[in-house]
Parts: sequence; C-alpha cells; structure tokens
Amino acid sequence: MISSIPYGRQDISQQDIDSVVDVLHSDYLTQGPALPAFEKAIANYCNAEHAIALSSATAALHLACLALDLGPGDLLWTSPITFVASANCAIYCGASVDFVDINPHTYNMDVEKLSEKLVAAEKVGKLPKIVMPVHLAGQSCEMTAIHTLSKKYGFRIIEDASHAIGGKYKGDPVGNCRYSDITIFSFHPVKIITTGEGGLITTNDSKLSKRLQRLRSHGITSDQDEMQSRPSDEIWNYQQITLGYNYRMTDIHAALGLSQLTRLNQFVKERQRIAQLYDNELKNLPVVTPWQNPDTYSSYHLYPIRINVKATHKSQREVYDRFQEAGINVNLHYIPVYRQPYYESMGFQIGYCEEAEKYFKSAISIPVFSSLTNDQQSKVIEVLKSIFN
Ligand SMILES: *Cc1c(COP(=O)(O)O)cnc(C)c1O
Repeated sequence: MISSIPYGRQDISQQDIDSVVDVLHSDYLTQGPALPAFEKAIANYCNAEHAIALSSATAALHLACLALDLGPGDLLWTSPITFVASANCAIYCGASVDFVDINPHTYNMDVEKLSEKLVAAEKVGKLPKIVMPVHLAGQSCEMTAIHTLSKKYGFRIIEDASHAIGGKYKGDPVGNCRYSDITIFSFHPVKIITTGEGGLITTNDSKLSKRLQRLRSHGITSDQDEMQSRPSDEIWNYQQITLGYNYRMTDIHAALGLSQLTRLNQFVKERQRIAQLYDNELKNLPVVTPWQNPDTYSSYHLYPIRINVKATHKSQREVYDRFQEAGINVNLHYIPVYRQPYYESMGFQIGYCEEAEKYFKSAISIPVFSSLTNDQQSKVIEVLKSIFN
C-alpha cells in the first residue's frame, strides 16, 4: 500500500484503546478519577509539585498568562520561531507581544540577544512582564541563564514545552520548573504523547496551582476556605469568585494520556535513535543537521534540517517540492510569527529578526516519530541524497 509519510504522527496501542474504552464504560466521562490520576503521573514524571490538565496547550498558555496577571499595558516576549499560540496568549489577555531573535545553532531564543534587548528595554521603561522560552523541536532553552536574567530584571517565566515532554535539561526532566514559574505541554497528536487534544501546566507554586484550577472551571470554587460566608439557611455548595473558563480536559482524554505516558521514555528513545541515524546519513550532504547543546537531552519532536543554499543549487522550495512529489509530507516549523498577516497588521516588518528570517528561508522538518519504520526512514534519506546528487 502506498501512503504518504507525515512529518509526525501518533502511536496508539491496544492498551491506549482499552484505557479509553474503560472510561466510556465508567460513571464519569469528565471530572472523574482519570484526570487527577493523569495529573499526578505527569507531576511525578516531571518532578513538579503540581500539574493541571487542560483542553489544549493553547488554553494552558492563556491561563498561565492570566495566573501571572498579564494584562493591558504589559508585555510578553517570546521566540519568533514557534507556533502562533505562544504569542496569541498574550493578546488574549490584552497585553502586547514582542520577539527575541533565535540562536543560529539551537534555533531557540538567543540568550545574548535577550540580554541586550533587556538592557535597551530597561532604559525606555518597557521591560517584559513575562518571557516565554520555547523548547523548539524538544531541545531545552538555556534555562539557567534566562532564570538569572529574570532575577535581574524582574520578569516571570513560562516555558512553552509543547515539543519537549520526555526531554531533559542538565539531567533533570523538562517541566520540573526549577528555572521557571510555569511549564506548558501539548498533547496534540503530532506531539510526543497525545490525548487527542489536550495540554497541561506544571508549577511548584501552590497558589498559582489553585488559581489555575479555578480559572479552568468558570472561576468556581467549592473549597470552604476560599468561599465567602453566607447565611447558613442558604445552600452555597460552590461559589464563583473570579471570571474563569471551561478549559477542562475530559476523563476520556486523560485516560489516553495516562496510558501513553507509560511509553513516553520508549517514544523518546525511538526518536533519539531515528535522529542519530539521520545525523550519520546526512553528514556529507549540503544540509545542517540539528546541533545539540550538551546540557540537553532532546525529545526530538522535530528534526529540522537547513539547506545550505550557497553550497548547492537547490532552493528550499525545490527540496520541499521534491519531498512532496515523493509522498513525504515534510513541513516548515515555523514561519516567524511576526510575519503572519495578523502580526504584520500590528506593525511588525519583514527582517525584524535576522536569524529567524534566515531559518525561515532554509529549514525543513523531515519525518521523525516513534512508529516511523526503517523503510520509511530509508526512503526519506534516499530522496534527500537524490536531490543533491
Ligand atoms: C502545538 C503547540 C502549541 C499549541 O498546542 P495545542 O495543544 O494544539 O493548543 C503551542 N506552542 C507550541 C510551540 C506548539 O508546538
């Protein structure tokens, strides 16, 4: 059977299916026991105090910004090479977004440029309230350096780790929030583990955790300590004490996540193995393979290669088209967010971040996912070799 090879896809087992079916036979499709079980398992895995599961990582980013009091007049800084959701969350809160250019080797937010931008922003009184590093492709940003800058300039840190569950930084799991206030994960099917749609927040701050739990469920609490006193002849079994949303994850989704989590380490090992094979096979081609910071262990959500357009006569577009013709659905992660028409309408201009633009013009994500077969990977490698030979 001929079918196209995607750049990423889910890996679903019979155990995953059985776990979902069990919930469907149970009393609770939502707000039941699978949700806290999933949250507890992720908190344990990441070595974080609290985990709050949500309907998507986009919802998680929104609530994370709200919980850190981001609002009108405030600024959030993130990387231009990310999915639009990393920036949109600030706009949801009425705040503004700005972008810190990427490092040319890791493609993550460049710490030197962040530092320079902070110096300049301090002079004009426009420091960010939140900085959001994005662990592109599953490789952690330089969190100790960003954390040090946060102490100097007084900003809060949200890690967008949508790509990075199962990854490590300095030997510890991404999501432990040692160098940040909040970490966010996505469980969209192209990510490392999936719940269909879903996201999750980890934090070590119990106040933030409580706030986030209220925000995900209408701003309602049933905790007596948080409720205002009312006449005892009235029935007050819950109170809405703030404005919240319905951003809950269902038990059906949580059960799938809990089952997937049991294979997370295996998934990442497979992705590492596939990446190493690419590293070796593509060594002599005019492409740059993803450089790895020795402080990190990547979960390899993506394997972005960069075409050395000068050394070869092939354009990025040609390579992209040749892959599509061969039935390999490579992709580009990402168009710089500020180049999107919506952001251009705010006044962002072409060339705003130099390295991000260079990346945009040369990067292509080739397939990496745990169920990629040897034959499929060989085909990807053959297509690349045939393009350049
Ligand atoms: C996938 C992704 C998101 C959004 O995740 P959803 O769960 O689809 O809302 C946010 N940021 C990054 C970097 C992503 O890759």
